[in-house]
Amino acid sequence: MSRITDNIDHVEKKIAEACERAGRPRESVQLIAVSKTKPVPDLMEALNYGHNVFGENKVQEIRDKVEAMGTEGIHWHMIGHLQANKVKYLIGVVDLIHSVDNDKLAAEIEKQAAKHDVVMDVLCEVNMAGEETKFGLKPEETMDFVKRISELPHLKVRGLMTIAPYTEDPESNRVYFKGLRELKDRINAEHIPGVDMDTLSMGMTGDYEVAIEEGATLVRVGTGIFGERHYA
Ligand SMILES: *Cc1c(COP(=O)(O)O)cnc(C)c1O
Repeated sequence: MSRITDNIDHVEKKIAEACERAGRPRESVQLIAVSKTKPVPDLMEALNYGHNVFGENKVQEIRDKVEAMGTEGIHWHMIGHLQANKVKYLIGVVDLIHSVDNDKLAAEIEKQAAKHDVVMDVLCEVNMAGEETKFGLKPEETMDFVKRISELPHLKVRGLMTIAPYTEDPESNRVYFKGLRELKDRINAEHIPGVDMDTLSMGMTGDYEVAIEEGATLVRVGTGIFGERHYA
């Protein structure tokens, strides 16, 4: 067996064990293979092995890979920072946009989704640790943001996403994952019309097991599946 398929087996086993520890069914967590910077043959290897959910963080890269691989039987997720002027390339292509964190972007998603007569599923990105280098809403402004964008008929807020700090110690991120889950529960408790969030996108290669213990429904694993990334 090759490296990528071995890695998928390993991550799948760890996910199953984390679900077991948390008393959650395995089906309650979906693995997103984060394939950014990796060539199409690497993605094809995962796909041929039965893994068909991919996360990318750049619009142009999604377009190139979709051109090569299509959308039939493949689920593409936009997980990276998104500029409003590029939204038009994603509607009808990606299943979920994980990174909505400002009104201008939400308005553009509304406009483009309306044009295609579809409802676009989105997550609101929250900067739980308050890191200055990261995008995302402040936790305390998230409730009002969700209220505002819930009024856009062609956009559906499915839940929240966070990128936790880089750390060698996954336990140190538990507080942020727990915080994101509690924030989701608080927002749901407001019973905002049209808002019933069921999705928490949290956990990456270094900390996805802890994230699952704290309620992640989507984990985004790149290095743990495809190996180290090499940026030109
Ligand atoms: C790159 C990336 C990941 C995957 O990171 P790894 O540490 O390689 O697993 C997950 N989420 C986002 C938003 C990313 O940009």
